[in-house]
Amino acid sequence: MNSNAVRTFVDDRLETYIAELKSLVEHESPSRDKGRLDLLAGAIADRWEGLGGNVERIANDAGGDHLVGRFFEAAPGPPALVVGHFDTVWPVGTLARLPLRRDGGRLFGPGVYDMKTSLILVAGVLEAFAALGLRPARPITVLFTSDEEVGSKTSRTRIEALARESAHALILEPPLADGSLKTARKGVGRFTLTVEGKAAHAGVAPELGASAIVELAHQVLKVAALNDPAAGTTLNVGLIEGGTTPNVVPARASAEIDARAVTIAGAEAVEKALLGLSAVTPGTRVTVEGGFNRPPMERSPAVAELFAKARRVGEGLGLALTEGSTGGGSDGNFTAAVGTPTLDGLGAAGGGAHADDEHIEIGSIPERAALLAALLLEI
Ligand SMILES: [Zn+2]
Repeated sequence: MNSNAVRTFVDDRLETYIAELKSLVEHESPSRDKGRLDLLAGAIADRWEGLGGNVERIANDAGGDHLVGRFFEAAPGPPALVVGHFDTVWPVGTLARLPLRRDGGRLFGPGVYDMKTSLILVAGVLEAFAALGLRPARPITVLFTSDEEVGSKTSRTRIEALARESAHALILEPPLADGSLKTARKGVGRFTLTVEGKAAHAGVAPELGASAIVELAHQVLKVAALNDPAAGTTLNVGLIEGGTTPNVVPARASAEIDARAVTIAGAEAVEKALLGLSAVTPGTRVTVEGGFNRPPMERSPAVAELFAKARRVGEGLGLALTEGSTGGGSDGNFTAAVGTPTLDGLGAAGGGAHADDEHIEIGSIPERAALLAALLLEI
């Protein structure tokens, strides 16, 4: 079977791919460092062109450039969209503290799991297709962005546009800890609640003041009451500040809120409730700003159907694919929310994303390359 041939192809060249992966990790690329991101984008673009891709570099004044590579454009039907990112959460200099390290079957290093190994999966699959004369079922569009770790503000429009013109989206984020693919993700919202009161001398004329902190206390409890864990809706007031000094009735206080929801309806309900909060304490005023920057990725019937197809494809490779959900967001939230069936968590196995022990299981590279190949060949 063809995708088994891809597994053998990648396995035979594994040391070459690991060397390529090391050079990608050694090129540090934090989300806000345009200089380094653009250099890396150039290297990836060259690699994709060498693989026969038609590469579009999306110039970005507000951050690193993004990359779209189109492959097998003459194949029939709308394309499969493969999505990843080449930015990492790690500041420049992290490598000095956490150098690349190979320990048994694992490769440790900042950004190796989330998600530079996915660039190797893409390269390995396309190289195997060329060498083995394999043709995918449909054209392949590969999108790698430079700002996923900071909310995809500059890439979102492009992610959504490409998703709309694609048959489905395959997201190369890390899988769940047990290797499961991700078929649902919570939506992520950020809100700032600000209270304005009236300052007064706390000893001489407290009755002339209106305490923003007392009002904030009321509001924090109202926000907490919106939690509905059974429905998958959770809110966290993660930061509060306010006041100036103990002998002044505080004129100002604020809170930062993280909100998560499993369904688009749940996200809309939370947003409406938060934006509708009003003051309890006379003389104070409450304003709320913010919204869901990633809509929920719902396990829609179309997503369930795509997973069922993937599971059948996996059986051909001897893999028993499983699925699960996560509270974290990715660019899969955007592709799913425009109605494009989305399968997430297709990256290599490993652990420690955003943590000092970030690593991949080297042995999973040929297997995950074969899975990606099979999805592209058969769906
Ligand atoms: Zn990621």
